[in-house]
Amino acid sequence: MELINRQDLAARRLNELQELKARGRKLAGYFCLYVPVELLRAAGAVPIRLARADYPSSQLGERHLRADACPFCKSSLEKLLSDPLYRLMDMLIFVNTCDMMRRLPELVGTRVSIPVFQLYLPRTAEPFPARIAEFEHQLRRLADFVTRLTGTAIDDQHLQNEIEIGNRLRSALRSIEALRVSPVPLLTTGELFDLISLATLLEPADLLPLIAQIKNRATNQVFNRQPTPPRLLLAGSIIAEEEREVISLLEERAAIVADVICTGARFIEGDITTGSDPFRALAEYYFNRIPCPCRRPNTALFQHIRQLIAERQVQGIVFQTLLYCDPWRFEARDLRRATGLPMLEIDHDYSRQHFEQLRTRIEAFVEILTGAGK
Ligand code: SF4
Repeated sequence: MELINRQDLAARRLNELQELKARGRKLAGYFCLYVPVELLRAAGAVPIRLARADYPSSQLGERHLRADACPFCKSSLEKLLSDPLYRLMDMLIFVNTCDMMRRLPELVGTRVSIPVFQLYLPRTAEPFPARIAEFEHQLRRLADFVTRLTGTAIDDQHLQNEIEIGNRLRSALRSIEALRVSPVPLLTTGELFDLISLATLLEPADLLPLIAQIKNRATNQVFNRQPTPPRLLLAGSIIAEEEREVISLLEERAAIVADVICTGARFIEGDITTGSDPFRALAEYYFNRIPCPCRRPNTALFQHIRQLIAERQVQGIVFQTLLYCDPWRFEARDLRRATGLPMLEIDHDYSRQHFEQLRTRIEAFVEILTGAGK
């Protein structure tokens, strides 16, 4: 039984967004999980995460970016010219994370006429008061940029309400995420990724009842899986919506019981403090997210990974990186050292050319974990 029909819901949402835009609403596209969607909503914009990427668009993206650029960035640039969802955007918000992402807005500005905002997140991750204050200042600049385009001023009460709605959504997603941890997972990581991708596309009010329904169906279904599949943690570069197939391939043989992917569980971590200055609360929450490896120090990322491994009895790591994604690639050695677990490394560029070879590597890795190959 298919729990989530993501493609149908996404197609319906595309029609809704076209109607909203025709009625004058402004759509704000963003790429990175450090963008405070609550603030965009409070300013009257409709936030949409642009996390689609595929091989054909990444190849076409080489018209604008050199061949050894990150495939996600190449694909994103091309999609801004050709993908119907991306072309609806009235503004784009970038964060100065990795080098490639920092330079993308400059290129976008020369190829598409969409207003662009670059959010400067302090690259050093220790939460010193001056850094949080600087980030709060950046959020106020972002608020000015969005309100100029939407014509809606942000009032504190509205922002507070959006923070509470965002907390409810993350909390509901975390409670469903917990279903993948049981010995026979009741929810697959593929399904979790579908839900998180919908959370960045639909309105929270539309998604919350759907999460409750899916949770109910997931807890009542009978699984036809081997009783104790090997338990994996998935780490590495951003996983685009179109890479769902790679997750399914892994889950044919194993259970992904944890991940530290920015389009996965890192998107739903923690709550934003309520009842205090909402701009300060947003700055503290987004500054303190589990750090992306483009920030230093990234000890919190490794602590988080070690905690997940211990709590969820992880047996092996699948470390997937996009070609030329240096921030993540450089972490491979430290990840092996820090965890001491067997690790399967996958380097890819969205092409399906090596899919069968990948299936064989996954099978061999699972045999190592289960001892079946001895
Ligand atoms: S961190 Fe890696 S995957 Fe993400 S945008 Fe930068 S290079 Fe691409």
